[in-house]
Amino acid sequence: MKNEHPNLLFIMADDHATHAISAYDSRINQTPHLDRIADEGMRFDAAFCTNSICSPSRAAILTGTYNHVNGVTTLDTHLDNTLWTFPKSLQEAGYVTGLFGKWHLGHGPGHDPTGFDSWRVLPDQGDYHDPTFLEQDGTSSQRAGYVTDIITDDTLGFIQAHGSRPWAAFLHHKAPHRCWEPDDKHATMYDGIDIPEPITFGDDLVGRADVVRATKMRMMDLDPIRDLKSAVPEGLTLDEEISWRYQRYIKDYLRVVASIDDNVGRILDYLDESGLSDNTIVVYSSDQGFFLGDHGMFDKRLMYEESLSMPLLIKYPGVVVPGSVSDDIVVNVDFGPTFLDLMNVPIPEHVQGRSFQSILRGETTADWPQSMYYRYWMHHDEAHNTPAHYGVRTRTHKLICYYNDPLDQPGAHGPTDPVEWELFDLVADPYEIDNVIEDPAYVTVRSELEHELARLHEQVGDTAPPPPP
Ligand code: CA
Repeated sequence: MKNEHPNLLFIMADDHATHAISAYDSRINQTPHLDRIADEGMRFDAAFCTNSICSPSRAAILTGTYNHVNGVTTLDTHLDNTLWTFPKSLQEAGYVTGLFGKWHLGHGPGHDPTGFDSWRVLPDQGDYHDPTFLEQDGTSSQRAGYVTDIITDDTLGFIQAHGSRPWAAFLHHKAPHRCWEPDDKHATMYDGIDIPEPITFGDDLVGRADVVRATKMRMMDLDPIRDLKSAVPEGLTLDEEISWRYQRYIKDYLRVVASIDDNVGRILDYLDESGLSDNTIVVYSSDQGFFLGDHGMFDKRLMYEESLSMPLLIKYPGVVVPGSVSDDIVVNVDFGPTFLDLMNVPIPEHVQGRSFQSILRGETTADWPQSMYYRYWMHHDEAHNTPAHYGVRTRTHKLICYYNDPLDQPGAHGPTDPVEWELFDLVADPYEIDNVIEDPAYVTVRSELEHELARLHEQVGDTAPPPPP
């Protein structure tokens, strides 16, 4: 008989892509402690964000609503902290709640974290080394050490203080966000070896939307000093420099991930040793995915698989079958209602996400969605020049409409560009190389996807841009 109110440990990384986790068959690193969560629980192979960028994804998770509803559409919009969030329902149900690490939803009155009995968060992105934290009493303090260790320490302290009553701990890492600064322990990891380049590293983006080709997310757009911590060696050809940049970039990314993995091991060990594991739901995810040289890119934002996919590993002994895998489509908006459902706390009517508790119990319901809706609003953001777009992904295909209009969103900029479309056959072309939007063989598929996009647009209540014809 399970406890009516299990604990929740929700670990969320920032920009950790599935393909840098060995439980997801990473070709480039090993994450033995994250794999423990997969081995003891369920791995989701089709978990997606509804807007692949930090603040909007975090708002979607906390509020259980899409960004046109919660108002956090871009990095320049902040969460109205009077809105309902699922931690507030946990508090009402008698849980003690604590948030440690990254918040990135605004600061000050109106935006500071609410729904948490304890919190200590980084200002905006925060620093990797000797970071400053904002405190609940309005003060701030700089603390010696490495950010991933400190956030884990704070969460452990919270759990130790409240272990005997139902608690929900939100351990939200800064890592592995840009600029990927490793700790001393992992500083020389991967020295002297070459990390494999991804299959699509040399993608020339031929046939793709012009606005995708104009993004500034290629290896040559990384800043050597800030991102790669080195001047570019003299005498390299362009191809050699691109490969050199990838190695500098990916090794630091993976070193930063290695610290997350170590610290996840530390907190899992504590739960095991303290006897809390049996009654604690442990979740590992990230606010979105990331391009790890895929399509020659870094960063996220676009609706391509590497950016759209969120890692999602959930263990709950006695409920989730160890080592299970789901390919059902779940989205970040579903996370909150699912946690509430597992913790026997009512889900308010207005929540748009849907509990996937049944999937965790190995019983997918017949009416579970077969598609998901996506929208990225931050047109021509200054650093990455990514286009505003929306789209639909089904189990087999993806249709993307680059509507290319800032629509007065904070942080989005003109000019408006002509509308462009992309269509990918994810079965025949899982790496999304071949845009078949003009291929006569896909006329019927395209029409079906346009209708599905229009249906989802209406279902979630999105307004602008208008749905496809
Ligand atoms: Ca992020």
